[in-house]
Formats: sequence, C-alpha cells, structure tokens
Amino acid sequence: MRITEISTVVLRLPVVLAIGDGTQDVLIVVVHTDEGVTGVGEVHTSPTVAEAVIHAPVSHVRSRGLASVLVGQDPLDTEACWQRMYEATEVYGRRGVVMHAISGVDLALWDLRGKVEGRSVAELLGGRQHRQLAAYASVLMPDTVDEARQLARDCAAQGFAAVKYGWGGLGAGIEQAVQLVAAVREEAGDGEVMIDIGAGLDVEQALRLAEAFEPYDLTFLEEPLHPDDLAGFRRLAEASPIPIATGEKETSLAGFTTLIEQGRPDIVQPDLARAGGFTEVERIWHRARDHDVRVIPHCWSTDVLVAATMQFLASRPEPVMLEFCLEDNPIRREVAVESLWAVDGYVTVDDRPGLGITLNPRTLRELGVSFSGPAQDVIAAATR
Ligand SMILES: [Mg+2]
Repeated sequence: MRITEISTVVLRLPVVLAIGDGTQDVLIVVVHTDEGVTGVGEVHTSPTVAEAVIHAPVSHVRSRGLASVLVGQDPLDTEACWQRMYEATEVYGRRGVVMHAISGVDLALWDLRGKVEGRSVAELLGGRQHRQLAAYASVLMPDTVDEARQLARDCAAQGFAAVKYGWGGLGAGIEQAVQLVAAVREEAGDGEVMIDIGAGLDVEQALRLAEAFEPYDLTFLEEPLHPDDLAGFRRLAEASPIPIATGEKETSLAGFTTLIEQGRPDIVQPDLARAGGFTEVERIWHRARDHDVRVIPHCWSTDVLVAATMQFLASRPEPVMLEFCLEDNPIRREVAVESLWAVDGYVTVDDRPGLGITLNPRTLRELGVSFSGPAQDVIAAATR
C-alpha cells in the first residue's frame, strides 16, 4: 500500500473573534492510498499556515512540503513517515507550525493504519486500558461573578465533577480573578476546580495569584507565564502552593524535554494535533513519566482531536483525565458524524478501527473555505 495524496480542508466559522477559543477554525487532513483506504487527522493551529506546510513545493533537500515527501511511501510505517516529515523540514521546522502540521498527518496515518488492521488506535498504542474516561469540563471564564456561578451550576447539571475555567474574565486583574475563583469554588462544592490563566504574567504576579488562590483548593493552575519563561516556571513550580500545568503551546520531544528539565512543571499538556501526533506524544509521555511529571493532554477542538485524545488516554495504564471543551458551534460539534459528548462526566471509548470517526460532508461543505482541490472531489474522497 502506498500514499497517493494528502488532501486538506480549512474550516472556518463565518465570524472569527480574537478570543481564547480555538474552535473557530481548523485544518482537516486526509491521507489517501492506492487501495482506497483513507485516514483522517486535524491540525490545531492557524490552519492557513499549516496548509502551506503540507502543500509547499521543494525548496531545499531539508526544506520541503510534507505531502511531497510522503506520496509513494508506505502509510502503515508511521514511524518512518514521521521521521521523513521531520527530516524534510529541518531548515524551517522542528517546532511550531511545522510540528503542528506533522501532527495532523500523523493522526491521519494512525487512523488509516487502524482501519487497515481493523483495530482502534488505542489497541495499536499498546491496548485499551479504559472503557470510560473521566472528562473535565473546559470552559471560558465569564466576566462577572454571577455568570461564573451560573456556568458552574450548568456544568454540575451536566454531570461534570471537575471543571476548568480559562482566560476571559481571569485577565482583568488579581482582585477580579480571586472573586471569580471564589464563586466557582463555592458552587462546585467538593468538585475539582482548575484555573487556566492563559496569559503571560511575570513570575512575581503569578506567585501572588497562586497564593491568593490557595484557599480554593485548585487541582492545578495552568499557563500563568509566557511559554518561554522557563526560569519563571521553575521558580513558580517550586514556590506555588498549587500544582503548575503548562505545555499546550509546546511541540516535539525536544521542546518538552527542555520544558520539563528547565521549567519543572508538575503537569504537562501536549496537544495531539500540535505537539507531534501520536508518534511524538507517545515519546513525550514517557519522557514526562521518567521525570515524575503528569501528562494531561490539551484538547480544545473538533471531535477529530477529541477522538484522538480519547484513543491516546484509553491506552494509558494509569488514571487519566480528558479535557472536554463545552463550546457549542459546528466546528466543535459537527465535524464528525459521530457525537462524542460526555455523559455524567464520562466519555465512552469504543473499539471501532482507527479513530472511530467519519467526517461530516455537510460541515465540510458549509464551513470549508479552502480546499486542496475541487471542493466536491475533496469532500467526496474525505467522507467516503
Ligand atoms: Mg490552556
């Protein structure tokens, strides 16, 4: 079996705002083969930039588009395909958007391999250890205390025993942030509460914030510093009364190794559609475990990423936590035909081959703004 083509679709909501919500657009990737089997993945980044990484023509032996080095290769050799992509982009890649694009292709290759072998990706990754995954609700923090209380009640009504509030109202200063956190903690009762700052505070501000949050029994405090402030993370993780989580913007084993060794966070959060796909995040997981660092993947996108994260977590031997984004728009909810919604705070992992999902042709048609070929042909081939 050989790869014949990599097709892509950029999906975009009619209105995209500069807010902390990564479900407003996405790049869908489909790997095609000469035997008609396809694999599906997604890239969670600026989709137009990633699209160029996949389709760029050769400009140097170590500066090539991903599709150009994969066509003709054996799609079932996921490791060889990953190395080929990594080496072919050494000049302009190794991190950032190139690793994001590699991730999407890698997810599609594992999906394809699962379909060929008739096994779920969790089985390919060593075996399914969990049928049910505990999901934590992941929501944007509202601007007012009343709205935050209502949101906490809504999450509890949907059965979530753990909720992460991020960005939004948390950016309006320490005093306001503490009031919001106190309100959601009171509503949550015994439930778990996590806070995602998602902003580049300096380490002194972050320490003051962590100390101010101490009475509210947070499971972790996420990304209070700029991702490159590794010295700051190290100081913060040593002094903070709350465990520190970060890594959703980090990519590759090399990047995570530096983060873990220099920043010393308690928890790292690789995103399967950014950090290097199943192939690289498997390595990141082992590196983190070697350093006693917990891994809770970042997951705030379509059901393609939810399915991929579910398969990855289902294959872990230890207790796991699935980030479950409650945004409700067609990119978050309708890219796949299947609904992977959480019930009473749990999602169920099934044994269908690959990622276990099928792309929804209507969503591709209605929200597709850029296709790698004639739209109707790309959609037909992607949803076969
Ligand atoms: Mg975050």
